[in-house]
Amino acid sequence: MLGLMQDFPLIIPRLLTYAEKFHRHTEIVSRRLEGDIHRYTIGDMGRRSRQLANALARLGVEPGQVVGTIAWNGYRHMELYYALPGSQALYHTINPRLSSQQLSYVISHAEDQYIFVEAMFVPLLENVLKDIPAVKGFVVLCDEDAMPDTSLPNAHCYETLLAAESDDYQWQDFDENTAAGICYTSGTTGNPKGVVYSHRALILQAMNSAIHMEITARDSVLPIVPMFHVNGWTLPYTALVMGIKLVLPGKDLDGASVFELLDAEKVSFSAGVPTVWQMLFDHLEESGQKLPYLNKIVIGGSAAARSMLETFRDKYDVEPLHAWGMTETSSIGSTPTMTSHVACQGEEAIMRSKMTQGRGIFGAELKIVGEDGAELPMDGKSAGTLCIRGWAVSSAYLKAESNKEFTEDGWFDTGDLATLNEYGYLQLTDRAKDMIKSGGEWISSIDLENAASGHPDLAAAAVIGIHHPKWEERPLLVVVLKPGHSLDKTSVLQYLEGKVAKWWLPDDIVTADALPLGATGKVQKNELREQFKSYSFPGV
Ligand code: AMP
Repeated sequence: MLGLMQDFPLIIPRLLTYAEKFHRHTEIVSRRLEGDIHRYTIGDMGRRSRQLANALARLGVEPGQVVGTIAWNGYRHMELYYALPGSQALYHTINPRLSSQQLSYVISHAEDQYIFVEAMFVPLLENVLKDIPAVKGFVVLCDEDAMPDTSLPNAHCYETLLAAESDDYQWQDFDENTAAGICYTSGTTGNPKGVVYSHRALILQAMNSAIHMEITARDSVLPIVPMFHVNGWTLPYTALVMGIKLVLPGKDLDGASVFELLDAEKVSFSAGVPTVWQMLFDHLEESGQKLPYLNKIVIGGSAAARSMLETFRDKYDVEPLHAWGMTETSSIGSTPTMTSHVACQGEEAIMRSKMTQGRGIFGAELKIVGEDGAELPMDGKSAGTLCIRGWAVSSAYLKAESNKEFTEDGWFDTGDLATLNEYGYLQLTDRAKDMIKSGGEWISSIDLENAASGHPDLAAAAVIGIHHPKWEERPLLVVVLKPGHSLDKTSVLQYLEGKVAKWWLPDDIVTADALPLGATGKVQKNELREQFKSYSFPGV
């Protein structure tokens, strides 16, 4: 027997229609490329999304077709997030920091019909034009007077395109499992892999994120995590579910620019990778400014160091929330929201729980498996490969030749190594390809660099494994010094003592001007390994 509930599909146009009706006065604030601040409401966004849907139809974009976006977080990108899936096309968010070869690969592989591109990224496309012959045209996300001279064929100005259209457009209903968007994962080897999100997954995940990141309708939310990466952790959708004020930072993610928005827009909640928080700390330290409005921040994408969590809590009175997720999980998959069992054990237990990647959220079931594929006990000690399944987890990559990461019984192998304890807290020990094996025992490069990054002279730290004739591999600590500091190896080693096992201490410490960062601010370990491929430890 079926339930007697109404058939109400979980699809993005239903969310937009709802938000236009009930949250139409809620503000969306964007810092534009031009540098000025743009303000409008969810009502305005709904109207312009309907104009955009008409423009897409005029361009000949059909249901099931893919349209690329190369854009920062801003109101025009929001309109694309709604109008493309709303008209049953797919957005393909493209990371502007891909190499030319990867850029033309993902555009061709996803079969992008058009590309909507920020004016500053037009040269990227001009550069690969001959390798993307199937793209029918380009739309530059700018005002008419900012339209650049370009060799891109069939290039339109976004505002001119919209101005010609009426806002009379009727969103249709369709199957909630219809594809809504695509995002490629960087992949350390081979070509990037396409993850295809469904409407159902995005809507469920948008609601789930609000619950698990503890966002309320009173919040003013600044997603620093880019909308070209993992749906901006679905915050562009969560905002319309809840009627939250959104503040979209555009291209300027340096500490001063982020602080300016946090302060001026009274932002109470923000989300980003550790690198952006470090840049904010540096700015605050220099300027002596505080964060009076910010209540909570989510740190994800890379492990949050204890020193970062403590600085937020103790120095700025901001509650840090750690989160784990992947491109393949639509947005967050786990987070250590506070339980009464932890809260009653006091500050140290709370801090220790915050340093874990948290508990799997409902709809994202986790398990740890050993080398034989058998599930390991939830004892906080047995480390193995983290596997996940759920309503917002990929079941396959787009047009992939091999889908070895997906098991026949419906699990996705994350490539992360982790433990789970009896309360369901997940602790990542490393990425499978990023462990250092010394004398047959594993060293966690994540733990080592987290411990080192708290040293007062260091702006950033990363650990890679270097070949060692006796131990196979030993850790090399690569550090970026804070301005005006010099490297004191003894001091760093003494700082690490007691924080990590003695045999984990790095065999050498070297400085770098900067660490190679990916588009989302994560250290690119493969690039770092490449940089140090001819390095050998002193005396070895
Ligand atoms: P991506 O698909 O680019 O978002 O990368 C996902 C990967 O980033 C995960 O598989 C983890 O290896 C890593 N990651 C994400 N969040 C965290 C976290 N909180 N702590 C440690 N690693 C993380």
